[in-house]
Amino acid sequence: MSDVREEIRSRLLELIRDVREHLRYLEELGVTHWEDLPATDDLRACISALAASERTGEAPSEPRAEAARAQATLDEEIRKEGDPMTSKRRAARSATASPERASEQPTLFGHLPLLQTAPPTEDRTLEEIRADVGDCTRCKLHRSRTTIVFGEGDPRARIMFVGEGPGAEEDAQGRPFVGRAGQLLNRMIEAMGFRREEVYITNVVMCRPPNNRTPEPDEIATCEPFLFRKIRVIRPDVVVALGAIAAQSLLGTKAPIGQIRGRFFEAHGTKVMPTFHPAFLLRAPERKREAWEDLRKVRDYVLSLSRERASR
Ligand code: SF4
Repeated sequence: MSDVREEIRSRLLELIRDVREHLRYLEELGVTHWEDLPATDDLRACISALAASERTGEAPSEPRAEAARAQATLDEEIRKEGDPMTSKRRAARSATASPERASEQPTLFGHLPLLQTAPPTEDRTLEEIRADVGDCTRCKLHRSRTTIVFGEGDPRARIMFVGEGPGAEEDAQGRPFVGRAGQLLNRMIEAMGFRREEVYITNVVMCRPPNNRTPEPDEIATCEPFLFRKIRVIRPDVVVALGAIAAQSLLGTKAPIGQIRGRFFEAHGTKVMPTFHPAFLLRAPERKREAWEDLRKVRDYVLSLSRERASR
């Protein structure tokens, strides 16, 4: 029993460290309050298990089981009272079904533009798409690249982050978002309650534009079908479009990012949330708060989906 107690104590300390880290990230992002974070469920479960064992003198139950019980209770409450997000989705579905939404009818998830999405493909895995990319020379960006930066993360991720294109660090390492902007993105992901390896990260173009210039329309048009195919394979709940180029590519619009950020759009069979690019946030830290509000909507939506799935 003392071993179990010791394990719970060390888990508790670990969680306190996690929460402290979270608070640091949130403070950096300009967050002033939040409703709940996934780690706090674990923390509460550990505290209640430890308190119960102190009270009864019996060996504490396994904290994850406590967390599962707490989640089941929460799910039951949501089932009885109705999840407000579920109601919103129901309303959004009926808006989608409305024939009046032929062009740009606003819905609870924002304006839903009609899109030319990628044609259906037979891709079953990301490896198949990578094999098709090969040693790509389809656009002129191949001349300036060192490495094709295909993307990385969980192939079954619920959230996908899409940037513009690789920079110098990414080109050298063959991995997306590993420079300063990548470090900020990592903190944003962690502030949402996820780990980098739990999401999928990629870009609109997979080769570094010379001198980090903006990718040109023909380069985007050549490379973006691969992005659309990745989305169809991963089937995330939300794609977060980081910056104007990603948002415009994914939504088929020329609207500035400042006009479209912070609203859910429907495209490529999923929800798309445009927000600011981390590189922009490094230059304009006063906009981090808006970016955090966008990411909080994504987190809340994904969590509401998981509750809905758990209650089925
Ligand atoms: S940017 Fe895309 S389309 Fe252009 S060469 Fe690289 S992988 Fe091919």
